[in-house]
Amino acid sequence: MIRSMRPIIVAGNWKMHTTPAEAGELAATIAGRTHVPDVVRVLCPPFVCLQRVRDRLAVLPAGQSVAVGAQNIHHEAAGAHTGEVSASMLDGLASWVIVGHSERRRDAGETDAQICQKVLRAQEANLHVILCVGEQLADRDAGRADNVVRGQVRGSLEGLQPAPLEDWDRDAFWGPSPWLTIAYEPVWAIGTGRNARGADAAAMADVIRETLGSLGFSDQAHEIPILYGGSVSSTNIDEFMAEPAIDGALVGGASLKPDEMAAIVARAGLTAAARAAAATA
Ligand code: PEP
Repeated sequence: MIRSMRPIIVAGNWKMHTTPAEAGELAATIAGRTHVPDVVRVLCPPFVCLQRVRDRLAVLPAGQSVAVGAQNIHHEAAGAHTGEVSASMLDGLASWVIVGHSERRRDAGETDAQICQKVLRAQEANLHVILCVGEQLADRDAGRADNVVRGQVRGSLEGLQPAPLEDWDRDAFWGPSPWLTIAYEPVWAIGTGRNARGADAAAMADVIRETLGSLGFSDQAHEIPILYGGSVSSTNIDEFMAEPAIDGALVGGASLKPDEMAAIVARAGLTAAARAAAATA
């Protein structure tokens, strides 16, 4: 039996919330209340708060680190793009980046082709990527959710050729955390209070891994973490963490609430402990 070595990850997307004055304190509070062994924690504040959050998290003792992530990058490396932020500008500020969030697809009209370029830019800048995919409600109701998500994964990662994941050195690939993480976020569940069922999220994780395999990432398909995102809270996290195909959560609204994050990460920690025990048994 192949035992999963995938890490458990809880990432918080603060969206367009918090000011620099508030963000450092909030990050420190969440970090202090979510220290659970073997759970990778990532906080993604707005760009203007990255420096404050980085500074507050930099003082955490070794072994308790919390990573800082950005919520977006531009798809080009540099240029005349007023108001935009490139991957290389995050150097020293963030080590993770969310790419292809549905709110960016909706608000900024991001296409899979642009998202693919963003993934490449992030790769060039040595950023860990959280690539978001997910169907609209109409897609699910029409029975085409799998196809939509397949298309997004394919469209966002095909640009990795001619350097497919299978050519990557495994140790370099993993580092302390994986280079690529995929968040399955059904659009109808984001910010709505209506979450997917754990079993549906797990079924979609299987679709995503099959698609990764068909793209030539065959070995890594089972090592790339897949998170669920969409109205995750302390009351529904169990349903997702009970699924072996799901490796954590991308949390939006609840990630601004220390009590919620403490409960979510505590639950994720139980799964991390169970996986570690299974791997050594
Ligand atoms: C998100 O922002 O990725 C998200 C899942 O938001 P929420 O948890 O608020 O639905």
